[in-house]
This record gives sequence, structure tokens and C-alpha cells, in this order.
Amino acid sequence: SVLPAAGAHEALETTAAREATRGLVEITKVRKSFGATEVLEGISLTVEPGGVAVIVGPSGSGKSTLLRTINHLEKVDAGFIAIDGTLVGYEVRGRRLHELREKEILRQRTEIGMVFQNFNLFPHLTALENVTEAPVVAPRAGKPRLSKAEARERGLELLDRVGLKDRAGAYPRQLSGGQQQRVAIARALALDPKILLFDEPTSALDPELVNEVLDVIRELANSGTTLIIVTHEMGFARDVADTVVFMDQGQIVEQGTPEQIFTNPQEDRTRSFFSKVI
Ligand code: ADP
Ligand code: MG
Repeated sequence: SVLPAAGAHEALETTAAREATRGLVEITKVRKSFGATEVLEGISLTVEPGGVAVIVGPSGSGKSTLLRTINHLEKVDAGFIAIDGTLVGYEVRGRRLHELREKEILRQRTEIGMVFQNFNLFPHLTALENVTEAPVVAPRAGKPRLSKAEARERGLELLDRVGLKDRAGAYPRQLSGGQQQRVAIARALALDPKILLFDEPTSALDPELVNEVLDVIRELANSGTTLIIVTHEMGFARDVADTVVFMDQGQIVEQGTPEQIFTNPQEDRTRSFFSKVI
């Protein structure tokens, strides 16, 4: 085996983690291939605590893959990702040092909430049950398992936060797409994650339902939740983002404040993309 001794793992892990503590999320030179196709070609991105990063870019540019590596749905081939100083996936000098144990991966996942394009609610559970399932079944590491009554109370609070307390007993099929997505957001909040990832949260919605979901996300952004959002809603991006990241073909072409990226983009690829979508 090429793996170094156990102590060496820890030393390297500590060094890498120390280098990675600037942001709440620190993504460093991450690479990812599917077969012969490299879809992330060395991505580096920092999101400060309470920061809101909005990722925009054409279809196929690697936005979803990047979010999925943060949440352990994909492994990185090179580079590393740290959440709050804890390494998610990493590699040092071209060699993967070790795989995180399954238990550690599950623990880290409870600290990261993710909201998908297609809501992904459990169809056989009510809105409230969808929200309470996670904290009852798998409490976040270091937090006590909630009793059924406590989980119910917390679930109702979260549904209230997304404006759906009165629909607590409804099943997903009885809710509009916008309402389902708001339940999905409440569910993602239930574990009190350190960060929330949104992958095109309004792309599957009828246009008249988009704003009710964006308003909920806007409220989260204003309340200091750390967010990484992939979206095609450019007006919303301009409103909520601290940092706008433009990705194309597996690379971050440029990133900056909304003002810089939307008003004064430096790269031809960015200008060309915005001329098509705005
Ligand atoms: P985006 O979200 O920006 O549209 P994705 O991250 O979904 O882009 O995809 C980036 C590229 O990676 C695309 O070419 C896509 O076909 C490819 N890809 C994504 N997931 C997989 C996978 N599991 N296996 C093979 N190719 C994939
Ligand atoms: Mg995508």
C-alpha cells in the first residue's frame, strides 16, 4: 500500500485543515472527471460565514457536480474541500491519502443542507412529517435526538418560517410546486445545517410560483445563513449574492461582487453568457 502511517494522516489532515479555515466553505483546486471527461478543472472558491455565493453558467458547465462534491454525493479526484475547517474530500500532491470513513461522511452530511430542483419530498409523508423525519431519525452530530413532540414543535416552527404552517398535514401531491419546494427548504433547515446548497431551486416551477420560493431564500440570506445557490434567476442573484461565480466548461471563469460580474464583466465568455440570458 502507498498509504502513509496512521500518524502521518493526522498530521497532513491538520495542516490541510489549518490552511482551509479562512472560509466556512473552502474549495481548493478541486478536480473531477467522469470517465475521460473532466467536468471540474481545478475549482477554487471561498464562502465566508454568513456569505451567499451564487453560481451561474451554461448547462453542463459543472455547477451541479460542484455542489454534489461539497455534499459527498461525488468524490473529488484532486484538491480539497473543507467545511468549517473539517475536510470533506482531499488529496495531497497528487495522491488521495485516505477515504473518509462512512460514519464521518454521514456526520458531515448532517451539517450540509441541500435543496434540489425537483423537491425530492417523500410522497407518502405529510409536509410536517417530511420536515420532522430527519431530526427524529438522524439528529445532527453533537445534538440530542428530539422527542416526537419536540420534533413536531420544531417542524411547525420551520413550516411557519416558509409560510406553510397551515399546510402541515398536506401530502406533497396536494401542494403546488412552490409549496413543495418551501417544504423542502424547511426540511433542509431542520438539522440546523452550517450551510445550505441550492441547485436550481426554481427551475422546475411555473413562473408564477418562482417568487414565493425566492422570497424564502432571500429571507435566509438576510438572516445570515451561509448559502451556495445555483440559479438562472439573474435579478435574484444580483439581489442576494455577496459573490457571483460564473462557471463555464468546468472552470470558474470569473467571480466577484454582483456589481463587478453583472455590470463590468472582464471576460468575453461571461459577457457572451449574459448577453444570452439577461
Ligand atoms: P450543470 O449543473 O452546470 O448543468 P453538471 O455538473 O450537471 O453541469 O454536468 C457537468 C458535465 O458532467 C456534463 O457534461 C454532464 O453530462 C457530466 N456529468 C454529470 N454527472 C455525471 C455522471 N454521474 N456521469 C457522467 N457524466 C456526468
Ligand atoms: Mg445542474
